Amino acid sequence: MKRPLTLFQFILMVNLAFVAIEVPAQSLPTVVVVTTGGTIAEKIDPATGAAVPAVSGKDLISAVPGLEKIANIRTVEYSNIDSSHMTPQMWVGLSKKVDEVLKDPKVKGVVITHGTDTIAEGAYFLDLTLKSKKPVVFVGAMRNASDVSPDGPANILDAVTQVCSDKAAGWGVTVTMNQYINAAKSVRKVQTSNVQAFNSGEKGYLGYIAVGKVEKFNDRPAGIKLPIPKELPKVILIKTFAGDDGALVKFAADQDAKGIVIEGVGAGNVNPQVADAIKYALDKDVVVVLSTRVYNGDVLPVYGVKGGGASLVKQGVILGGNIPAAKDRLLLMLAIPQARGNHDQLQQWFDS
Ligand code: ASP
Repeated sequence: MKRPLTLFQFILMVNLAFVAIEVPAQSLPTVVVVTTGGTIAEKIDPATGAAVPAVSGKDLISAVPGLEKIANIRTVEYSNIDSSHMTPQMWVGLSKKVDEVLKDPKVKGVVITHGTDTIAEGAYFLDLTLKSKKPVVFVGAMRNASDVSPDGPANILDAVTQVCSDKAAGWGVTVTMNQYINAAKSVRKVQTSNVQAFNSGEKGYLGYIAVGKVEKFNDRPAGIKLPIPKELPKVILIKTFAGDDGALVKFAADQDAKGIVIEGVGAGNVNPQVADAIKYALDKDVVVVLSTRVYNGDVLPVYGVKGGGASLVKQGVILGGNIPAAKDRLLLMLAIPQARGNHDQLQQWFDS
């Protein structure tokens, strides 16, 4: 015959049942949030009425209700600056820091908080250079932490949700804002003040996040990886305009630039004066990459007039593919030291 339970045994059983029902925190995935600054971590300075860096990494995380239910969060404060102050050298340091963090087998992925002004370039730089294949999600905010409805907390929650989702595997680095997931290669900032500030042009979003679920629309676009050189070469970006006399391109060539990216018009064309300035730069062994101000479509060797894409290719210009000029510049900074003067190799990297 069964003996009745003692009070001690009864209490022990109830406690054990609770332990079994509750998900222990250790079983949640670990996500590291690396903070760099930007509006997401800014507040209005009462003295000036303007937004300035103010919020620590820990404060950022504690402002996100429900985060502790989906992941164990660790924070790493990399910097706290407005992203207009970011430099390629800082993205080098960020890339190395993120790879170091991702080496820990317990870490599922990384979320990087970053100002939105240069987030598209920062994400692309890391997409080109990170060794780890784990998910890395860049996130920012269009409204600062003292706004009546800041968008930062929801964006962080979405970013962590994405890192924890198996659907995110293979997307590489993304910029995830206002529920939309953008590939680092395709993303552009397209609005100065609205929360729907980013899109991927005709390439389309990778996916969408709603009520804690990740929906996949697309695979990541093709891309390459390049090692981080000991020193990044000086590469200057110049936008051409109607009536441009080419003086800025010549000036850049005289500034010891190793490369110049020219943001031309249409399918990749410049006027005759700029074509002469490009010849001047090429004669000084400066690598010249031709980009375009147009949002969608490749830079193509179509036009044979002086300064047309086809003529520039004959002169020795590299065609910049279908990424914005600021991203062409980052790719060229990484590619010049690797290519060691191999023109065809450079063109191949820009084609991919
Ligand atoms: N000025 C800010 C930055 O890029 C804009 C933002 O984060 O939304 O740092």
